[in-house]
Formats: sequence, C-alpha cells, structure tokens
Amino acid sequence: MWIGIDDTDSMQGGCTTYVATEIIKELSRKYDLIGFPRLVRLNPNIPWKTRGNGAIALHFGRGYGKRIEVGYIGKKIFAYEKGIDIFENVSREIKKIMEKHAFMHDEKTNPAFVICKTKPSYSLYKKAVRSIVSIGEARKEAKNCIYKTYKNGRGIIGSIAAIAWKPYDRTYEIIAYGKEKWVDEESVIKMDKECKTCFDNYDYENKHIAIMPHANSPVIYGIRGENVEELKKAMRMVVSSAIERWIIFETNQATDEHLQKKKIKDVRPYESVIVRGVVKKEPLVIKGGHVIFSIYDGDEIECAAYEPTKQFRNVIKGLRKGDVITVYGGVREKPMTINIEKIKIEKLAKVYKKIENPRCPRCGKHMKSMGREKGYRCPKCGTKAGEKDAKYVIVGRELKQTFYEVPVVARRHLAKPLKRLLA
Ligand code: ATP
Repeated sequence: MWIGIDDTDSMQGGCTTYVATEIIKELSRKYDLIGFPRLVRLNPNIPWKTRGNGAIALHFGRGYGKRIEVGYIGKKIFAYEKGIDIFENVSREIKKIMEKHAFMHDEKTNPAFVICKTKPSYSLYKKAVRSIVSIGEARKEAKNCIYKTYKNGRGIIGSIAAIAWKPYDRTYEIIAYGKEKWVDEESVIKMDKECKTCFDNYDYENKHIAIMPHANSPVIYGIRGENVEELKKAMRMVVSSAIERWIIFETNQATDEHLQKKKIKDVRPYESVIVRGVVKKEPLVIKGGHVIFSIYDGDEIECAAYEPTKQFRNVIKGLRKGDVITVYGGVREKPMTINIEKIKIEKLAKVYKKIENPRCPRCGKHMKSMGREKGYRCPKCGTKAGEKDAKYVIVGRELKQTFYEVPVVARRHLAKPLKRLLA
C-alpha cells in the first residue's frame, strides 16, 4: 500500500517529513518499507504553500531482496529493494499521528492523508509539479483509495501527487532531527569539500550554511546528494546538536521537473518555464535592488533577478540588447514576470561604443549630434550625417556563452544545480 501525506506544517512549526518519520516508526512494526521514503516537491509557485511545497509518499508491504539502512527512529529503519504489496486499512494509526502532529490551528494548514492500493496516474504528479490541480481533480484520482482530509481538504492534492511520482530522475536527502538545533560551520565546509556527490550544502559566496532550515521545525539539517552511502558519511562528518532520529528520502529535488519549454505567448502564471528569446529591454535596477529586463521571441516578457539572488544580479546586469538567452524560472502573476533560477547565454551580441562624432566631409569639423538616434549635423556648413558615420569600437563583454545560476542561498528545491546539469 502507498501512503501519501501533506500539509501538516505551518510557519509556527512542524514538518511533514517529521510526521512521516512517526508513521514509519508506527507502521514498520507490522510492515516493511519498500523502497525509500519519498519527499516529493510540487509546484514551487503556488501561493498557498507554507514553504517548500513538499509532500510525502511511503510504500509498505512485505519486503524481500536487498535491504538497506535508511534511518534511525528509536531503532534502525530498513527499506527493501522489492516487496509484495499489502493493503490494509491503517487509517486509524495514521489519523492518530496526523492529529497529534499537524498544526491544525493554523489557517494555512489543511492536512490530508491517502492510502492507495495502486499508484495513481503519473500525469497527476506532472500537473501538480508544473501547474495547478484542483481539490476535485485530486479527490477523483483518489476515489478508490482510503483518504481523510482536514479543514479545506487541500492536502489531498499533495498527498496523491506524491504517490503518483515516478523517480525517472532522483536525488536523495538525509534529514536529521533533534530538540536543539545547531550546526558547526567548519564541519559543513569540510563535508562539502570531501563528499563530492553531495550538493547545495554551503554557499561560499554568501557564507551561508544551506543544510540548516530557517524554519521553526524539528529538523536540524538536511544534506542533499546523489549517493546514499556518501550521504551517511556526510552525516557522520557534520558536527551538530544531538540527533534523535534521521531518515533518508528519495526525492525529485534538483531535477528541474517543474520546468516546461514554452513560447512567450504560452507562458502562464504559477508555472515554471524555459524560454528562449532575445534581450529587448536592457537590465534596470529597481527599488529593493531587483534587476528587471525583458526578452522577445515575437512576444515580450519581463524577467527578474530579485534581491535574494545576490551576486547572480551582476550576471543579469551584464546582459545587453540583442543577446540571445534561455531563461529558466517561475512565473509570477502580476506583473507577469519570469523569476530567474538559471540562465543560458546562447549568443552574446556585439556591443559598440561611440568614440568620435563624424567629421564633416566638406569642412573637416566634428559634427554635432541632433539628438538620440537622429544623426549629426555640421555646426559650420549644416551638412548632415547618419548615426553609422560616427566612429565606434567593439566593447569587450565580461559574460561568457554559458550557464549561470543563482547562488546556493537562493536555490529552489526543484532547480537542477549546474553541478548536476553539466555533469
Ligand atoms: P513543506 O512541507 O516543504 O514546508 P509546504 O508546507 O510549503 O511544504 P504545504 O504545507 O504542503 O507546503 O502546502 C501546500 C499545499 O498546496 C498542500 O495543501 C498541497 O496539497 C497543495 N498543493 C501542492 N501542489 C499543488 C498544485 N500543483 N496545485 C494545487 N495545490 C497544490
């Protein structure tokens, strides 16, 4: 049986992954975990998410084949590579855990859990990671499942979509939980340098420990990586407050599964897109330090590198009219803007700088400009000349025809780091 849960936490505290550890602790007394517990990130642009729009899927049954240690929750937790499905009504046990740990009183928290016999259609996951799913659609998909929703029932969307995910691409995250929360920075840097298959642990440019959540939750840290054994080694290397439990999730983090290639005319709010175009309006720094420019592919759309993207804004400021670029990012509704996660500079335009006004062919004097892009006129004899008659030099460009991404501190869960993309 597959169990999906979502929307149990709030800004005040909690964490859906912690509720998952409680369910694993309880149900692993009777059943085996088949495959890793799954942490599935969904559409990062929906307005009603609490933080990272994460939901959980767990698969229980009778395991066989290779087993691997995936956590410690008062006892070692193992997951089996293969298993025989068991479907039982475990809603009483899950309900008890949900009602104890979910932040029900928070108006934005609308928990749900689903118990499925078979996996829902993959297309539901695809829609949930890329656009908006209605509660009705999710209920319809769950019609043969046992489920319980609380309050406005929205949690059913994430619960069922998490089960629908198939790990065509995947990464892992090891999450450590405890009462006190501190992490030794030096040990994180050492771990980051040594554990090559881990990523997004430390932001060297901004001196930021990325494995530690800011949120008020039982999570001490979460380390991301490609390799389960190296994640365990990374956990042993990080010096932190006492770890009471830990678990490894298989995730869709760092896979770019939220992105879809689009023409500008087809871009819709709350989606995440990959759009290729030519820079039309050059970058402008607005109040708050955000950098805005536009691209054109027959239609025009604004793009932004907001202040939290820090040094990435310097890349964006270097763009010039005529540069051909591909932007990757989430779409904000008003004003419709692509919030850039990464960018590929396909072709840098030649940028010219005027160094001398044209000389009058009759009297040899330097001509005077008649205004922006209006040409030149000789002040003595009135002879006219065009813009092209002035003397120009080609300006060197600092940018290269390659990818640039936001720093680790501003990285979205689903965004594929260049370390993975270009590997
Ligand atoms: P995290 O556990 O990482 O903090 P979160 O708290 O940010 O995640 P949730 O609290 O799970 O996010 O809130 C997201 C809510 O939005 C859930 O109720 C979920 O069912 C719903 N949801 C998720 N994806 C979609 C989607 N594509 N369309 C509509 N609703 C969605």
